[in-house]
Amino acid sequence: MNSCNKCRDSSVIELRYSGQSLCATCFIKLFEQRVRKTIRRNRFFNPGDKIAVALSGGKDSIVVLYLLKKLSKKFPDSRVFAITIDEGVRDRNFEIAKSICDQLGVEHHIFSFQKEFGVTLDEILEKSKNLENPAPPCSYCGVFRRYLLNKKARELGATKLATGHNLDDVVQTALMNFIRGDLKRFVWGISKDEKFVPRITPLRECPEEEVELYAQLFDLEVNPNSCIYREMSFRSIIGKIADSLEEKHPGTRFQILRSVDELGPIMRKSYESDKNRMKVNRCTICGELTSGTICKVCELRMELGIR
Ligand SMILES: [Zn+2]
Ligand SMILES: [Zn+2]
Repeated sequence: MNSCNKCRDSSVIELRYSGQSLCATCFIKLFEQRVRKTIRRNRFFNPGDKIAVALSGGKDSIVVLYLLKKLSKKFPDSRVFAITIDEGVRDRNFEIAKSICDQLGVEHHIFSFQKEFGVTLDEILEKSKNLENPAPPCSYCGVFRRYLLNKKARELGATKLATGHNLDDVVQTALMNFIRGDLKRFVWGISKDEKFVPRITPLRECPEEEVELYAQLFDLEVNPNSCIYREMSFRSIIGKIADSLEEKHPGTRFQILRSVDELGPIMRKSYESDKNRMKVNRCTICGELTSGTICKVCELRMELGIR
């Protein structure tokens, strides 16, 4: 590879979107500056914040935990801790999540589908096969996992819930929302209800391959396997399209992110003027948040015959 454009050391990465080659030191500096800027601009971290990090053990969530823990020294009276959801999928293990929490001295809480819902994800998927129109695995998993993360983060006193979503994830989500005509999802997450723990995504401006390199450079042990069900999802199809766009037109991901960020406030304004669309209710069965009368989790449990 070439030498670093900033200091002439040997480079470890070429950023095609900016035409820069960087050495390890200059790359780490750029990466951390970018994350700090994202956090500052979006007010993701304030003094007194108790931040729960959704820790799967993959590279993204490990890097988020590592960076937030490091940053927490700058915010008086703040706390960073980790929540892991054990969906009960074959071959998943949480040793890596446990070990990073030990290393960083972070409190770690694990909650399982089995204990909280009485069934594992594998069992949920087995039951869903009896339905007329079963949804793809990731949508069941997502509904149950997000429900549990919000509920447990709140019960543990979190003021924010941090997830590892990187630039590629944000771009995929945006494209999926567009294709499905589901624009209200661009404003989801601004609900001010006391039962809702606001989400933060410190890596939203970091391309996936850069998160991976950052984890490698710090020797952070990460779980290399993504979920076995992911390949079957709509997201993975969209991901391939986004990758090929980026390949042919470097910088596409950042351009899509800019569109998302411009669209957000416009959509918010339009939805806020329409009170009915922004209304949040309490599920009449479990008391958690819903836009209707029964939340998605309770609805699915009834549908699938899970007590
Ligand atoms: Zn350099
Ligand atoms: Zn419910």
